Amino acid sequence: MQQQQIDLIRPQMGTRRALTVRRYGKPGTGPKAYFQAALHADELPGVLVLHHLEKLLLMAEEKGDLTGEVVIVPFANPIGFTQYVDMKPLGRFDMRTGQNFNRHYPDLSDDLVKTVADKLGNDAGQNVKIIRAELRRLIAERRENTGSLTDLQDLRFKLAELAIDADLVLDLHCDWQAAMHLYTSDSSWPDAADLSAQIGCEAALIAEESGDNPFDEAFSLPWVVLRRELGDRFPIPMATLATTIELRGEQDVYDHYAIEDAANMFRFLQRRGIIAGDPGPLPAAKCDATPLSGVDRVTATHGGMIVFAVDAGCYVTAGQELGYVLDVETGDKTPFFSRTSGFLYARVGGRLVVPGGLLCSVAGPEPLPGRVGNLLTAR
Ligand SMILES: [Zn+2]
Repeated sequence: MQQQQIDLIRPQMGTRRALTVRRYGKPGTGPKAYFQAALHADELPGVLVLHHLEKLLLMAEEKGDLTGEVVIVPFANPIGFTQYVDMKPLGRFDMRTGQNFNRHYPDLSDDLVKTVADKLGNDAGQNVKIIRAELRRLIAERRENTGSLTDLQDLRFKLAELAIDADLVLDLHCDWQAAMHLYTSDSSWPDAADLSAQIGCEAALIAEESGDNPFDEAFSLPWVVLRRELGDRFPIPMATLATTIELRGEQDVYDHYAIEDAANMFRFLQRRGIIAGDPGPLPAAKCDATPLSGVDRVTATHGGMIVFAVDAGCYVTAGQELGYVLDVETGDKTPFFSRTSGFLYARVGGRLVVPGGLLCSVAGPEPLPGRVGNLLTAR
């Protein structure tokens, strides 16, 4: 294991921040996996999972079982870690710019199409090498051309540079109150089905492009676009599987979950040839993939307090009452429903809601009317 501290831009006099990066195995010897946790800084289940995964990686390395490379960023957001208001950690949005820490990662797709079009050939493996070399060059160039960077832009580039040439990119998040689920690209399904089954996902939400460039799509989208634009001329595999894994809810920080999650991710790495050894049989899948455009994000028609009738992690039917919003000033008591039958994989953590505010999310099997554009926002 090699540990590295990557200094981030100093945000101000007297203040320093750094990313901790730990590397297992040898670069270039096999596939590369990249893991990070707490990009939304107050989402801690993934930090505990990586803590346990690293113990397994260290033992595997000592035994000589690392047949690829694993890069771990145990906490990906030193900026968000120190944001507190009213004694509450606020790790989702950068307080200086208001931007979501998991959006606006560099999209290199269009540049990539232009620069590799005359370099590719008939060997798919060679094409992957050429494309990855170009991705490394392009992201350095993009940083150079961006000029003066904010500390947030600097963080985004430094994380993206660590992951840009990985075969597997696993970004560990959590929801407010939720069952295990993941997001990935249409083009990465069913490739990601073994990961989904191994970690026990109860929903797998797929979209080619969900909007505003979240971290995982910075690594999947270039391959999607290349395959779309040049795939009829050259063999181009979907070489990077990038996913956002939602490790249940934000309060689900327990060893009994994290130790098992880490063991499952270790088995996944074995299955993908990054660690030697038998991962054992793949557990039966708890779900098939469903389109992100089929998620009903149920919202409140007026402000008030939420009284849920169902927990996260339930199957519900279209039109079933999921709870109500109560305004005790007006007496309005408004039940809320899902438009689709499906799996209620997440609900909000707070019980005060404003008009249009998100209540819960139900993964249905078919795209819903109006679910176009930015699929990760409430509506
Ligand atoms: Zn998150």
